[in-house]
Amino acid sequence: MPLAKVNSTGSVWEDRKAENWVQDALQVVRRAVEAPSVGVELSSRWPRLGDTLAVHVKVPPPRTPVGWIRREFAKRFSGGELHVTLDGIECQCFPKQGSQSSGAKAGKSEVWRALVPFTPLDAPGKRELVVALKDGRKKVHRETIGVVDVEFPTESIWLPKQKSNLHMTDLEREKTDAFREVRSEDQLWDKPFVRPCEGPVTTEFGMKRYYNGVFARGYYHRGVDYGASEGTPVYAPANGLVSLAGKEEEGFVIHGNCIGLDHGHGVASIFMHLSELAVREGEYVRRGQLVGRVGDTGISTGPHLHWGLYVNGACISPTSWMRGIVT
Ligand SMILES: [Zn+2]
Repeated sequence: MPLAKVNSTGSVWEDRKAENWVQDALQVVRRAVEAPSVGVELSSRWPRLGDTLAVHVKVPPPRTPVGWIRREFAKRFSGGELHVTLDGIECQCFPKQGSQSSGAKAGKSEVWRALVPFTPLDAPGKRELVVALKDGRKKVHRETIGVVDVEFPTESIWLPKQKSNLHMTDLEREKTDAFREVRSEDQLWDKPFVRPCEGPVTTEFGMKRYYNGVFARGYYHRGVDYGASEGTPVYAPANGLVSLAGKEEEGFVIHGNCIGLDHGHGVASIFMHLSELAVREGEYVRRGQLVGRVGDTGISTGPHLHWGLYVNGACISPTSWMRGIVT
């Protein structure tokens, strides 16, 4: 008992009290830094190229005042308390709808979610997923997932010279880049996505292409094409904010007349080649609401709707979103 030697003037009883106090303090510190029971749930351990992986993390509240202070500090100064990485690359997390405010008030667990896109250009194979709390508690979860390869079909398309030589204008590039960079904190979608247009799928998501006989490297069909006649209504597949309303006459020479919707949490839709726009930038639209009409504007080989669905800037397949697998 080293403490008894230090506190040599006191009684054995006082020595014992001092020792208990130290033990209690150590216990508090240990609780503040020990691994809490963080629950991690994945939408799949074997996502396919083109899929979106949803990582749900249930974060218990800190157990001590020191933990609360550290958490607040992490939230304000180091970009949040929770960090999800895949092979060391940070995946942005958002609190799942309703879980944060009510959870924080009641001192309950908060549920956070990271959405991770896998594109047809990504390499299949193993990835290491790490979930860490940066509020003084150590790394809490580590697991390996396997990204499954998909053989995407290829097609050859032939464009007339005047269309194949077109390049995006500065305005078009700037506006469409900005559209993909939006990461709104409010989740606006609340149900599985619906198809935005009548008509058969004429070009699937992920199709690789030969343009005028030359294989287009780094290209994959960033969306789904629906064959439909000019003027066919185009509906919002989910609730969202109109974050882009581009017109061919203003410089959208590739996309044509187009509408971009921000669904929140880094999820966004774009509708291209429209004949008409039915909504304006900044407008809130509900799932199933008319946003425009099918057309043949921009770089297009006949009237059709191109719907591109993006997650954190990467275009992914809408299939799992329409089936409600990603929640
Ligand atoms: Zn297309």
